[in-house]
Amino acid sequence: MNGERIGIMGGTFDPIHYGHLVTAEAAREKYQLQRVIFVPSGHPPHKEAGMVTDFWHRYLMVLLAVVSNPYFEVSRLEYDRGGVTYTIDTVREFRQRYKSAELFFITGADAILEILTWKRPEELLAMCRFIAATRPGYDLRQLNSLLGEFFQGAVSVLEIPMLNISSSNLRHRAKAGRSLKYLVPEPVEFYILQNGLYRE
Ligand code: NAP
Repeated sequence: MNGERIGIMGGTFDPIHYGHLVTAEAAREKYQLQRVIFVPSGHPPHKEAGMVTDFWHRYLMVLLAVVSNPYFEVSRLEYDRGGVTYTIDTVREFRQRYKSAELFFITGADAILEILTWKRPEELLAMCRFIAATRPGYDLRQLNSLLGEFFQGAVSVLEIPMLNISSSNLRHRAKAGRSLKYLVPEPVEFYILQNGLYRE
C-alpha cells in the first residue's frame, strides 16, 4: 500500500513480554504507524544455535501476545528465509513488498549500539529509520556519540519505563519456578508453563 508507515519490531522474543508490547504501542502512537509487524529472529548471527529457544515456541508466544491488538501482526519471514538471518535481508524484503511505505525498525537500544558490526549498516540506515527502545536510567552518552558521528537522525530514542522487564530475567524466574504473572500476557504465561519452557 502506498504511503503507509510500517513498524518492523525485531527481536528474539525469548519470551515476549509486556515491555516489548508497550514499546511497539508507544512507537505506533509516536510515529503514527498504521501497523507494527513483529519479526521474531530466525537464526541470529550473534547467538549460537541452542542458546535460543526453538523458533516455533517464540513465534507462537508472539502470536498469542499480539492477537488482541488490531494494529499488530507477526511475520515468519526470518524463519522461512532460512540460514543465518541478517536484518538487512529482512528490511530489503519489506522494502520489496511495501515499495512506497516508510519503514521503521524498532528494537532495543543495546542491540542498536552494535549496529556498525551488522551486515551493510549504511544501506540499512538509508532504507529505514531506527527506533531504539531504552530502559529508564539508560546512559544515552554512548548511543548519542555513536549516532552523532555516523547516523545523524537515522536513529530515534524511545524511553520505555516498562522495559525494566527483560526476557533473561523472565527465563531465570521460570527456571526457579517463580511467577511470571503481570510480566507477560496471560496466554504467554500459560504457554510457558504448559510447555515447560525455560525449566532447564
Ligand atoms: P538482544 O541482544 O537479545 O537484546 C538487546 C537488548 O534489546 C535487550 O535488552 C533486549 O531486551 C532488548 N530488545 C530486543 N528486542 C527488543 C524490542 N523489539 N523492543 C524492545 N527491546 C528489545 O537483541 P536481539 O533480540 O537478538 O536483536 C534485536 C534485533 O536486532 C533482532 O531483530 C535481530 O535480528 C537484530 N540484529 C541483527 C544483526 C545483524 O543483522 N547482523 C545483529 C544483531 C541483531 P529483552 O531481552 O527483554 O528482549
